[in-house]
Amino acid sequence: MEDLSPDASVGPATRLVQHRYRPPADFEAPAPGVHKASTVFFPNVAAVRQREWKDKSAYTYGLHGTPTTFTLEARIATLEGGQHCVLAPSGLAAMALVDMAFLSAGDEVLLPDNAYGPGKSLAAAELARWGIAHRCYDPMRPDHLASLIGPATRLVWLEAAGSVTLEFPDVPALVAVVRQAQTARGPGARAIVTALDNTWGAGVAFVPFDLGVDISLQALTKYPSGGGDVLMGSVVTRDDALHRQLLLTHMRLGLGVGANDAEGVLRGLPSLLLRYHAQDRSTRALATWMAEQPGVARVLHPALPGSPGHAHWLRDARAAAALFSVVFDDAVGAAQVDAFCDRLRRFRLGYSWAGPVSLCMPYELGPMRELPGPHPARLVRLAVGLEDVADLQADLAQALTAVS
Ligand SMILES: *Cc1c(COP(=O)(O)O)cnc(C)c1O
Repeated sequence: MEDLSPDASVGPATRLVQHRYRPPADFEAPAPGVHKASTVFFPNVAAVRQREWKDKSAYTYGLHGTPTTFTLEARIATLEGGQHCVLAPSGLAAMALVDMAFLSAGDEVLLPDNAYGPGKSLAAAELARWGIAHRCYDPMRPDHLASLIGPATRLVWLEAAGSVTLEFPDVPALVAVVRQAQTARGPGARAIVTALDNTWGAGVAFVPFDLGVDISLQALTKYPSGGGDVLMGSVVTRDDALHRQLLLTHMRLGLGVGANDAEGVLRGLPSLLLRYHAQDRSTRALATWMAEQPGVARVLHPALPGSPGHAHWLRDARAAAALFSVVFDDAVGAAQVDAFCDRLRRFRLGYSWAGPVSLCMPYELGPMRELPGPHPARLVRLAVGLEDVADLQADLAQALTAVS
């Protein structure tokens, strides 16, 4: 036991701030601990000059990492089969980080037309102001992507399954198109980076790097947190040079995450696989049942035969996320679709997904897509939580009276 008698050589305020007690160093428990810091102490000037945070071998400043964020980064990298990870304050901030790390004025970024909407807005509004162009490709047509890649193309986003309409693209074929264009540019040309939004797969449904992409991004807000109470994003790579570029941009932008938020995600991780598979089972049961109901024209879910990209999903994935979208018959009017959503009691109206509470949200696809349709005018996206399937099905059944 250390000597805890008051240090008479200093005043009471100093004793409160700089107490001599140090807890023993060998504490271990299931939770890795919440380390909060802006300031990190150095033992001497030599250490200030020598410490290198970029390889996670030391600590320099809270923004550059703490034991808590380094631990979370290592676990997310492992989850997705990558080598390196950087964290951002939200999934959208992680997207902005990737865009800013690899795009310069005069470059062009290509996005799937069914990409996460705010990521498209980021390109259309912010990137455009900095002289970076964007175009949207049809994710179900690798030939369309091939036709859009030009000399300025520097970054290609992918998403599997796509947002809201949940088409599952042929990711290896899309990546092959990018690699071919790269080869055609000749040796020494700037590389085209491929980045997959892997929020849907969450590192569970498939290994993104096995499908050939350079970068895997996740909204940790969704499955890894699992609580509907944390916002965070991650960017994982296997490539040292890509990671270094991301890390430097990340550092210059000051994209820190809070220790309590990192802890929130760390608490969610041990149950991630259990939750993913349980919610997958419930979702498939509800999606299959919903497809049979009067007033419903189609149910979009990559594991359902007939859903766009089902064959790609069968080949490349081993699980599916807790989302499906319902396209109603043409005879069902907009007011009836709204009434269906308003009648739901277990499914709450709200954005985000992969949390404990089931959610619903109506979407109007026309304004969300840049490529010509036909797009279903209205659909409702349902996100399945952790409630009993029977209760959720009963809720859908009573709400469906609004559309019949
Ligand atoms: C939610 C989501 C994001 C953004 O995550 P935030 O943490 O809400 O910014 C990105 N991509 C997909 C597919 C998402 O569902």
